[in-house]
Amino acid sequence: MDIVIYPDPRLRKKNAPVTTFDESLGTAAREMFEAMYATSGVGLAAPQVGLNIRLLVYNPSGKAEHAEEEVVLCNPKIVFKSKDTESGEEGCLSFPEVNGQVIRPLNVKVEAQNLQGDAFELELEDWDARIFQHELDHLDGILFIDRMTPASKSQAKPALEDLVYDYKQNLADS
Ligand SMILES: [Zn+2]
Repeated sequence: MDIVIYPDPRLRKKNAPVTTFDESLGTAAREMFEAMYATSGVGLAAPQVGLNIRLLVYNPSGKAEHAEEEVVLCNPKIVFKSKDTESGEEGCLSFPEVNGQVIRPLNVKVEAQNLQGDAFELELEDWDARIFQHELDHLDGILFIDRMTPASKSQAKPALEDLVYDYKQNLADS
């Protein structure tokens, strides 16, 4: 599973709800974890591997040996978010060499389905809430550069231009 890199248009596409909870869905989630660990990430959304469905995975530890911290969410939605917000540093596997400050609600309450299609709720705080909100944004075609503070965005500009240049080069070569 290759990670889709900005500005690939698949990162902005509409993502369909998961409706079939079969073995191939479980396999996709497993492969997303493998791709995430291989690139030292803590979260990954399906469109980042070219699957335009509402599936995301994360592991706040970022470590394969802490599999007990793995979370898989199908069709997640936020049902509550705190008024308290916090600025924090974020990166994204679809944006190598880019990071910046993003302001997000500190706590969120989430409804989602697991790989069997069973509904459940989750209350997330701090780091977990930040990872989740970043990945949920991917399912809506929203990227962290859209939410970066102006200072971070201007700092990231040269790196973003490099990514656009590389993407065009790759298209020309293929
Ligand atoms: Zn991301």
